[in-house]
Amino acid sequence: MSKSLATVNPCSMCMPMGSVLVFRGIEGCMPLFHGSQGCSTYMRLYLAHHFREPVDIASSALSEKGAVYGGAANLKQGLKNVINGYHPKVIGIATTCLAETIGDDVPQIVREFQAEEPLAKDVTIISVSTPSYAASHEVGYRVALKGLVQTMARKSKQSGRINVLVGAIISPADVRYLRRLLDDWGLGYILMPDISETLDAPLCQDPPLIPAGGTPLDDIRDTANSKATLTIGGWVQEPGAGDYLEREFEVPHIALPLPLGQEFTDRLAANLEELTGISMPESYEQERGRLLDTMVDAHKILADVKTAVYGDTEMVLGITRIMTELGMRPQIVASGAANPAFAEKAKELAPGSKVMMGADFSQIAEEASSRDIELMVGPFTGRGIARKEKIPLLRVGLPNHDRYGASHQLLLGYEGSMYLVEEMANALLEGRERGSA
Ligand code: SF4
Repeated sequence: MSKSLATVNPCSMCMPMGSVLVFRGIEGCMPLFHGSQGCSTYMRLYLAHHFREPVDIASSALSEKGAVYGGAANLKQGLKNVINGYHPKVIGIATTCLAETIGDDVPQIVREFQAEEPLAKDVTIISVSTPSYAASHEVGYRVALKGLVQTMARKSKQSGRINVLVGAIISPADVRYLRRLLDDWGLGYILMPDISETLDAPLCQDPPLIPAGGTPLDDIRDTANSKATLTIGGWVQEPGAGDYLEREFEVPHIALPLPLGQEFTDRLAANLEELTGISMPESYEQERGRLLDTMVDAHKILADVKTAVYGDTEMVLGITRIMTELGMRPQIVASGAANPAFAEKAKELAPGSKVMMGADFSQIAEEASSRDIELMVGPFTGRGIARKEKIPLLRVGLPNHDRYGASHQLLLGYEGSMYLVEEMANALLEGRERGSA
């Protein structure tokens, strides 16, 4: 393995980009980057290519002057412009590298703005620190989720509902699936963030400036009064929103892996049964049976296949688990996040594989060329390796820029797992037909 200390092609994205995905899942929320204009332009385009939706992100547009004298004036002006132009209920501020490097005290600037500016009185402002040189988009996502409950959750009367926090980046179709599951289960819940409509809206004549949908603000305030929190996709993450609610408001917290494959979906179902006293609806028992049938059918193609799986930590762990359930042999299990808990779980799930955290694609390429990989599963950013090594690539997760349908890719639950099993088998078969594997 190369001893290079330089980042060549990171297997992760900018930290504030993760925050945008949380802010975009909140009712009436407008994201604003405090930093240079280019960060917001780049991330708007990057997300729009993935979701095939417009993704507005305002910017405080720091210039050389702001970098020398501080960015308070720019940020206050940016907040004013956003309030006047978009009439948001919430503004989610995420910092970019420049604002962090010059050391702007964003919470203090926001307090000044709220004291000075009458326009601010009807808007909730949340700010999170997201220096990209310190961590990946996954951490940006986690701190934004935590920032929301820290700013908004308020203790009042016990609601008896369950907080369902989406702890990892999943598709709008996955979020819709979770909502359907929880509705069918018949339980009262608060789901946050909810990008099911905001990042996958129906075609319409005059789209609103801020997309409709997202978690209602009253629900976010009420998260302090729920009887429990489940973080779905919070298995290997550092303490976040669920831990905060447990510590501050005594709402018990359970962190679960993403429900990918049979075991991890069973785990979610068991927790829902325990929390609600309601058994899994019959239709999901049927779905579970169909997944097992699909796994048996595809086993003859997939068993013993050597794979490389890479991308976001929770997604990679879920896919690794379903691969091992199928008798596949993950050889490379990699994430761009520098997350030791991920590495530990990956080693448990796939002993003998090369586990890489803080991974760079240049390192993954080196490993892939020496391990007879037959199938790669991860974002489209691995396509250079796939082409060079002639390995079939199944595109899953964020980002996916060179194929359509990322918003509608359902991977969660028994239903999504079925799709994943079949797509892996088909990718392998197509690769063999083309002579690429
Ligand atoms: S690395 Fe920093 S400066 Fe570059 S786009 Fe990302 S947030 Fe902006």
